[in-house]
Amino acid sequence: EALNKILDIKGSIRALCRVRPFLLTDKRNIREHIVTGPEKIVVKLPGIRKEFEFEKVFLQEASQEDVFVEVEPILKSALDGHNVCVIAYGQTGTGKTFTMDGTNEKPGILPRALKELFHHQASKNNSYSLTFSLSMLEVYMGNLRDLLVPKPSCRAYEAPTKCNLTIQTDSKGLVEIEGLTDVPIPDLATASWWYTKGRSVRSTSWTNVNEASSRSHCLTRITIYRRGDASEAKEQASKLWMVDLGGSERLLKTGAAGLTLDEGRAINLSLSALGDVIAALRKKRGHVPYRNSKLTQILKDSLGDGSKVLMLVLVSPCEKDVAETICSLSFAKRAR
Ligand code: ADP
Ligand code: MG
Repeated sequence: EALNKILDIKGSIRALCRVRPFLLTDKRNIREHIVTGPEKIVVKLPGIRKEFEFEKVFLQEASQEDVFVEVEPILKSALDGHNVCVIAYGQTGTGKTFTMDGTNEKPGILPRALKELFHHQASKNNSYSLTFSLSMLEVYMGNLRDLLVPKPSCRAYEAPTKCNLTIQTDSKGLVEIEGLTDVPIPDLATASWWYTKGRSVRSTSWTNVNEASSRSHCLTRITIYRRGDASEAKEQASKLWMVDLGGSERLLKTGAAGLTLDEGRAINLSLSALGDVIAALRKKRGHVPYRNSKLTQILKDSLGDGSKVLMLVLVSPCEKDVAETICSLSFAKRAR
């Protein structure tokens, strides 16, 4: 039984890697420094050779559909009653938002997951009924902001304390974010409407700062309520988190791009706190340091015991980004 528990924990964290295609804005390098196999990625430059293993590696030509296939098992787990997280990690510009949200023509994981959930809801073979609700929030320098019903005072974070939602943990260890909007989503059209709204609030609420979204974490929560046919059956709720993390680039480089030291520190702290939590879970260490960041406090009941995590590590194909690429791949190595 102990062994099963160990296997279960091991199997509950999966890491995938996706290399984005070259963009027109990239200065294309002739040298191919990234070599991949289906389950590994090798970064090769003179004097460097680093190999990283993943459950799966997606190359430049992989489609949104290909990536979503790997998400389906975790969606099933959520429907089965587990709390789950899909987390996109990587340097700014590597495709975190593209992979999670996508575009109208190329929808990403989130819109596909919503569609799939409603498809499941309509299925006649279920022995239970399903309902869903949606929340979206942004974590920026330790402040939590509601993306579905943003308070005017929260614009540009001029008064962060006013939009700071608080995180509560109940006696059963379940996490609740006090005051966070949670809208019922009876159908796909309603879900898409709210989701589009949340996304636009994230990208337009910044008055002065460009590219500010790269310094915040965007978290979307779909709560899945399952009720059995038997009248005495209790309703069961599980959480499906989709997390578009802030850019993982290190201070030095981002400082040159105009990032303030505090913003960079906040991102680095929360990303390393997340890495610490996942590493502790994988090593089955007794103490898991959830308390070190807002991000890990929010995800506490959805990382670890009984939950499933899918970590997507996004990397650039460009040689100029190789140092960041190696950092991101190393993060995943530590986490798995
Ligand atoms: P991030 O959220 O990590 O900062 P984005 O998702 O905004 O990065 O991606 C940066 C740019 O690269 C966007 O223009 C996006 O459309 C493009 N891009 C990223 N990944 C892909 C991909 N797999 N296929 C096509 N374009 C991509
Ligand atoms: Mg982004």
